[in-house]
Amino acid sequence: MQIMQKFVYADNAATTKISDRVYEAMLPYLKERYGNPSSLYGLGAQAMAAVTRAREQVAAALNSRSDEIYFTSGGTESDNWAIKGMALAMANKGRKHIVSSQFEHHAVLHSLLALEKQGYEITLVNVNRDGIIRLEDLKNALREDTGLVTIMFANNEIGTVQPIAEIGAFCKQRGIVFHTDAVQAVGSIPIDLAAMNIDMLSLSAHKIHGPKGVGALYIRKGVVPKIFIDGGAQERGRRAGTENTAGIVALGVAAEDACKNIETKAARISALRDDLIRGILRIERSRLNGDASHRLPGNASFCFEGIEGESLLLSLEQEGIMASSGSACTSGSLDPSHVLLALGLPHEIAHGSLRLSLSHETTAQNVSYILEKLPPIVKRLRDMSPLWERLIAGERVYPEGFE
Ligand code: PLP
Repeated sequence: MQIMQKFVYADNAATTKISDRVYEAMLPYLKERYGNPSSLYGLGAQAMAAVTRAREQVAAALNSRSDEIYFTSGGTESDNWAIKGMALAMANKGRKHIVSSQFEHHAVLHSLLALEKQGYEITLVNVNRDGIIRLEDLKNALREDTGLVTIMFANNEIGTVQPIAEIGAFCKQRGIVFHTDAVQAVGSIPIDLAAMNIDMLSLSAHKIHGPKGVGALYIRKGVVPKIFIDGGAQERGRRAGTENTAGIVALGVAAEDACKNIETKAARISALRDDLIRGILRIERSRLNGDASHRLPGNASFCFEGIEGESLLLSLEQEGIMASSGSACTSGSLDPSHVLLALGLPHEIAHGSLRLSLSHETTAQNVSYILEKLPPIVKRLRDMSPLWERLIAGERVYPEGFE
């Protein structure tokens, strides 16, 4: 008799499963329709037509013009291009100051770090305890020579959604270019580029049921970041490299599907997320990371006092549940997540984090299964934890001033 291993995928913020429609759409461009979009004969023209159609699909999903969409190799490249390309462009106008936040994705933070080494000045505003940027802090950070503001639409770890329209309005008033990393937000919540005054926006196919290694940068007409990848004349001379035709076709379909009935899907996923949050918060000394309402429909992020996120993940995997923690294992040392630290959490708590991220494929049964398996795992790990022992003995474990 074969025993079915339960499999619950709750790590959709890391990546999503490719959808059938996306998979079928891209396949012909890997095999019989293999032409180079730059070739002049029929096979090439066929590929170019597919790229053009995908550009229109992405533009329609974002309500932009299709000539404002540039295909890239994913969210990381889009962020790098937007930030480094704009930094170069604005330096020519005597602006060398960039404002961002402490809890951006590393694609943004490390791009900024690289620029700092080249003489740019960077101000990273903090977020409040709920993981939301305070507009006042952002306003105070702006200077005469600020040329770029880059703030993520929604955080990848804790799912909090930022006041993008308000930030866009400030930037517009002050003549500052506004970029947003919307890799987690596209296809999850509605985005109105014009109403939100967004000048540049990064997105990635693999977060919306498309393949890895393809994404796009929206660049508003008139905004001109310097070229980041030099070479041929692809992407209207602004991003070189033979087009990843199959990936681009896939992104077109994925974007179209993701933005269809977005409100209905978001409402259904949010209801499942809230069931999950309610159930999990019954575990003693557990906390939700980030604001409960201003968050992505699919994101539920927690910290459990007295345990290590990594052991929790391993135990969950043994039960067939795929999730992630906020910690990043960097060259052998276990660093707590910079996002959780930015919320003001002490290291001891930040280490016990768990991110469960849902998609439209998540079912109520999946949620019940997680709610059945998680509490006993937390209990078992706490029973073995010296930190938990100190906590329940009432010892002061966290830094002064943290309650
Ligand atoms: N930005 C955010 C907010 C992300 O969540 C990710 C991926 O995890 C990226 C950027 C990088 O995107 P990609 O994996 O397509 O390079």
